[in-house]
Amino acid sequence: MSSSTMLDVFKSTGALLDGHFKLTSGRHSNTYFQCAKVLQYPEHLTAVCSKIAEHFANMGVETVISPAIGGIVVGTEVGRQLGVKTIFAERKDGIMTIRRGFSLESNERVLVIEDVITTGGSVAEVIELIKQSGALLVGVGSVVDRSNGRVKLAHDHFSVLSMEVVSFTPEECPLCKKGFPIDAPGSRANR
Ligand code: ZN
Repeated sequence: MSSSTMLDVFKSTGALLDGHFKLTSGRHSNTYFQCAKVLQYPEHLTAVCSKIAEHFANMGVETVISPAIGGIVVGTEVGRQLGVKTIFAERKDGIMTIRRGFSLESNERVLVIEDVITTGGSVAEVIELIKQSGALLVGVGSVVDRSNGRVKLAHDHFSVLSMEVVSFTPEECPLCKKGFPIDAPGSRANR
């Protein structure tokens, strides 16, 4: 599947919308993006994750780890396709930790999987856990790199899609200045 076809899938599932939106940060954007809307469909989940699994297929990955919650669905499917153990890290009192009896061994070859990378904060914390355990970081795979390549988390950092997300404060928003009403993504996506 080419990246333009992949983009079509994101648009057709309502994961990627053009319009005028208020982000959770309070900033305004001409793009609405919700990766989970693509991944809810098994055929799309399989196709997106196969891109990532193919990229890391011959690198001796022994374990896939994802930051909860967003990374778990993608990590589990990538791990299933690679046929390797798959675990996740989660925040406990704000600190990224490995719980539930999961563990990483010294020299274990570990691949980190995330759905969307914006600043890369959660992935960086998971990489720190890998280092602390003495395991080896094979690379980082994500569905979407919203930093458009600015965030580099590993020597081998692969994203299925890379896109720049432009946002504005409400005061400087050009769409507000033109008087365009704010869209509600939930209702638009159901059209
Ligand atoms: Zn606006």
